[in-house]
Amino acid sequence: MVDYEIVIGLEVHAQLLTTTKLFCSCRSRFGDPPNTHGCPVCLGLPGALPVMNRRAVEMAVRMGNAIGCKIATKSIFARKNYFYPDLPKGYQISQYDMPLCIGGSLPIIVNEGEKVIGITRIHLEEDAGKLIHDQGPGSLFDVNRCGTPLIEIVSEPDMRSPAEAYAYLLSLKQILEYLEICDCNMEEGSLRCDANISIRHKGEKKLGTKTEIKNMNSFKELEKALEYEAQRQAEVLESGNSVLQQTFLWDPSSGRSIPMRSKEDAHDYRYFPEPDLMPLVVEQSWTDSLKQTLPELPSHRRTRFEKEMGLVPSAAEVLTSSRALADYFEQTLLTYSDARQVANWIMGDILRIVKDEKLEINCLKVTSERLGKILKLVENNTISARSAKKVINLVQEQDKEPEKIIEEQGLGQISDSGALETAVKTVLDQNPDTVERYKKGEKKLIGFFVGQAMRATQGKGNPKEINSLITRMLG
Ligand SMILES: [Zn+2]
Repeated sequence: MVDYEIVIGLEVHAQLLTTTKLFCSCRSRFGDPPNTHGCPVCLGLPGALPVMNRRAVEMAVRMGNAIGCKIATKSIFARKNYFYPDLPKGYQISQYDMPLCIGGSLPIIVNEGEKVIGITRIHLEEDAGKLIHDQGPGSLFDVNRCGTPLIEIVSEPDMRSPAEAYAYLLSLKQILEYLEICDCNMEEGSLRCDANISIRHKGEKKLGTKTEIKNMNSFKELEKALEYEAQRQAEVLESGNSVLQQTFLWDPSSGRSIPMRSKEDAHDYRYFPEPDLMPLVVEQSWTDSLKQTLPELPSHRRTRFEKEMGLVPSAAEVLTSSRALADYFEQTLLTYSDARQVANWIMGDILRIVKDEKLEINCLKVTSERLGKILKLVENNTISARSAKKVINLVQEQDKEPEKIIEEQGLGQISDSGALETAVKTVLDQNPDTVERYKKGEKKLIGFFVGQAMRATQGKGNPKEINSLITRMLG
């Protein structure tokens, strides 16, 4: 592999979160009983006419705006003709030579920092139905997914390693989620990816023959499949043969790619303009007004977290990984403004709860406001940092206000100097020899006294306060 350069381009299909399908009013929803959402339009019955879903166009334009595409004021739908049992119409309505969004770019995070991947286009298309092969002797067909809206995001062949492909998908997924146009549920197939990969000798300008890996719905598996495929192509070339243009399916269980068919070319699909739909006209003013509604995007937010809040890049990356998490972070700052402290607590205790309990961040009982309160209580010495961890867990368990938990559990630090003084005095009285050694100059023994006093107060004494009391009493 060391002599070769890998070239990867990705085509990502993202299912749009519209209520209804792309060209009819059937519901577009995963998980409903099979064959409950179908009509003459999505079944392709004679005489049925498609009607464009405005909301789907809006979502596609939002995505185009977010990654800097040029939004075409006029684009055309086309029929892509092929037979497959999950496609009752015998063709898919897609876009071909005049797509909705053209050009654009997506920043990804790689080891060396940020790299920008070019976007070729985004187009709108309908999904096919679903075949189920593992229930009963034959295959079953579910029409519910027929005609649900997809955007296909096609990248330039700008990625140079499977790891970059992984980073690209991560970055794309983040943006789709930030825009709230796709739920990116990989298991349900809302985000699927086809990858084109070729290799060439280092320094070579011409692209090698590419192969395609179809229908991946796991980022990790895609990375593995690309590694396998690059290796396979290198072995083919090393043995003096040439790589064939082929389509593969990845088999995760064997860790191998399985040839599916020799790769078809666009002309095999007999694309032609969809005669039942008018050209899609998107007015510039609409595009511009949608641009105004874009949320702050992950890369911008990341930079802001670093520059304005002083977070290290890795923390900024974690905290912007989802919009909800970034919101949680910023909302916590409204109650407690030390950004680095908040970042550390979220990346430690809060994300641990999220992970252990498999929760969404916005479903936590430790709301951003409650976390802010807890951190404030640490700062003003009402509780110790150690107790704070306990308070966080208990707030999550019992859904109560932090102050209430602290009171009920007696977790407050004793800063009342009277109580502390008594405790310190007892410790000193019980250890006359140590006191003597301290007085003769073994100043390190202060640690011992603080430890004893902390024990005497069951860990609730304020260590700083205790320290200064001892120094004063022995000084
Ligand atoms: Zn329908």
